[in-house]
Amino acid sequence: MTRERLFIFDTTLRDGAQTQGVDFSVEDKRQIAVALDSLGVDYIEGGWPGANPTDTAFFRERPSLKRAHFTAFGMTKRAGRSAANDPSLAPVLDAAVDAICLVGKTSAYQVKVALEISLEENLDNIARSMEAILARGREPLFDAEHFFDGYKADPDYALSCIRTAYEAGAKWIVLCDTNGGAMPEEVYAIVSAVKAKLPQAALGIHAHNDTEQAVAVSLAAIRAGARQVQGTLNGLGERCGNANLCSLLPNLLLKEPFASQFETGVVRENLKQITHVSRLLDEILNRAPNRYAPYVGASAFTHKGGLHVSAVMKDPGTYEHVPPESVGNKRTMPVSSQSGRANVAANLAMDGDKPDLARLLQDVKHREFEGYSYDDAAASFELLALRQQKKLPRYFTVEQFSVTVESVRDEDDQMVSQARAEVELIVAGERITSTGAGNGPVNALDAALRKDLGKYSPFLADLRLVDFKVRILTTGTEAVTRVTVESADGKGNRWSTVGVSENIVDASFEALTDAIVYKLYRDRAVT
Ligand SMILES: [Zn+2]
Repeated sequence: MTRERLFIFDTTLRDGAQTQGVDFSVEDKRQIAVALDSLGVDYIEGGWPGANPTDTAFFRERPSLKRAHFTAFGMTKRAGRSAANDPSLAPVLDAAVDAICLVGKTSAYQVKVALEISLEENLDNIARSMEAILARGREPLFDAEHFFDGYKADPDYALSCIRTAYEAGAKWIVLCDTNGGAMPEEVYAIVSAVKAKLPQAALGIHAHNDTEQAVAVSLAAIRAGARQVQGTLNGLGERCGNANLCSLLPNLLLKEPFASQFETGVVRENLKQITHVSRLLDEILNRAPNRYAPYVGASAFTHKGGLHVSAVMKDPGTYEHVPPESVGNKRTMPVSSQSGRANVAANLAMDGDKPDLARLLQDVKHREFEGYSYDDAAASFELLALRQQKKLPRYFTVEQFSVTVESVRDEDDQMVSQARAEVELIVAGERITSTGAGNGPVNALDAALRKDLGKYSPFLADLRLVDFKVRILTTGTEAVTRVTVESADGKGNRWSTVGVSENIVDASFEALTDAIVYKLYRDRAVT
């Protein structure tokens, strides 16, 4: 059976850039565009040339794309001016791109209230703008803004807008649920009705996530006949975001009826990059990845309950809807008081001899009571098991450490904190004293610890702290502090360690030393 082609349009760099808290640099945009291209999306919307300095600079030098159509975004021309004389449209038409996507009004209410022009003038703006794109030899796409809301209020006018765009040469008519309020069933019905009225037009869908249904709305539109779908990585976008490509793509490639019915530029093999691309975006944005994200989140294939784990170890299909490898993700089984021996065993893939599982589990439960949590600190759990088996070499001994924090008023009348730490260690019989400075005590301790570890120093060259979490807990009668740190190395490995104490400095120090010890053990440092 030949499958129909479905086109993937990414708008991470345009609609995604409108996410609160997101601020891409030109270099960020370039890096994301290259990753999207290698994933296999068909269109990459880079932004709005002329609208801001970043987008203008990004379009000045085309990113090196192998297959995706590089696309500029803009708005249909304003009334009373020609397309060529519209200062906001001219830079879009001039951009060195393959395709141009222009948003235009298709809701009579929006034309009257937001544009304050006549319905006929709006139709003329749409037609002249599409013609201007064609005249420049670019592929014209029309984003039908507020289409579903417009259609519900005045179907004839909404249809006349997209018919106008189609007749003026738009290659794609992208129906937008701009306010994100449409329900999947009504989108299915409206796209079906449009398909019947304009059977020749190629339709697309652009959905927002204001009812947490952008992916469902997109799939409904595809079932009704849309053959282009727009979305963003990790669902970035205005307000609650756009349709999330990191969920949409796996659904399209792995789930029926879509998998049998369609082929996309993103092939099954490339889908294995989706977890990496999702995390790369978070890395660029300096955000912690959403661990609960479907398909790509760290918890998407995490099995915690003892019953689940023992079944998954027999056959992963017992509690997994797709194999994690199909999306480039990994299966994990954290250890906690919820665990049975199966989790504990599953987390001890490191070495041949299994420790006393019952004793280890007992230990974990006891330490959880003290405030530890290994759910999120698999590396500390491995170290715990190794220590119990007396298999962990003693790389160094901490003799003492101290931290001071000093706050002084600076010339701008602001209080500025400076922390200093001193650490005294014994490494291979040698006494080493190091100092470190930082903007806070943990920072300073981390710097001092890693400054000089004698013969182990080369192992720490690529070690960095990527995340740091603090929780105050009440266990028994006292409040304790739990610190979890996430570390990374130059090879892309990430691991998490935990420390617990009555004070944040000791808890941090424990988590930091575990992070270093784990790296030395994993890299097989010789004592
Ligand atoms: Zn949008």
